[in-house]
Amino acid sequence: MGTCKRCNRPLKTPRSIEVGYGPVCKKKHDEAEEEFLKRQVTIDDVMEYEERMAR
Ligand SMILES: [Zn+2]
Repeated sequence: MGTCKRCNRPLKTPRSIEVGYGPVCKKKHDEAEEEFLKRQVTIDDVMEYEERMAR
């Protein structure tokens, strides 16, 4: 039986065990990841812009 990677609670459904998170933690994890990816893109865009301006 698996436990949630985020809160270490036992996972009840096969789906949760498969993803490694409980439903609530999965949602939070996805949101955090989405936010992280969004920020990554933004930082990359800024870096690229600054690089262009420096030339
Ligand atoms: Zn959890």
